[in-house]
Amino acid sequence: MLSGDDLEKFGYYDNFGDKETVDPKEYSQWVEKKILTEDQERLIENILGLVGETGEVAEKVKKLMRDGTRFANEEILHELGDVLFYTTALANLYGQGLQDVMKLNIMKLDDRQRRGKLKGSGDNR
Ligand SMILES: [Mg+2]
Repeated sequence: MLSGDDLEKFGYYDNFGDKETVDPKEYSQWVEKKILTEDQERLIENILGLVGETGEVAEKVKKLMRDGTRFANEEILHELGDVLFYTTALANLYGQGLQDVMKLNIMKLDDRQRRGKLKGSGDNR
C-alpha cells in the first residue's frame, strides 16, 4: 500500500486533498483535465492508450512466466492505474462517469453469476 509520503511525493494531496479514498467523480474530472486531444483523434488516442497500457500489464506477467522476472506490487499498480486512466477517459468521452461503468459491470457480472454464465465466451451470454 502507498504511504502518505508516497502520495505527497506524487502530488496526490494537491489534487484530491487529505483523503484516504478518491471519489470516482473527482477522478473523472481530474482525468478530463489531462486529455490533450479532441473528437475522433481523442477516441483513437484513448483506445490506443488503453490497449497499450493493458499490454504493459500483460508484458510484466509474460516476463514473469517466460524469464522469471519478478515485479513489485507497486509496478503493477502503476500500470493498472494507467489502464484506469484510459478507461475513465473513454467513459468521459461517452458522457458517463466511472461510477456508471462500475455499476454496469457489477450488474452484468452479477446477472451472469445468477444464471451460471460466468464461464464461457461471448458478450451477450
Ligand atoms: Mg504504463
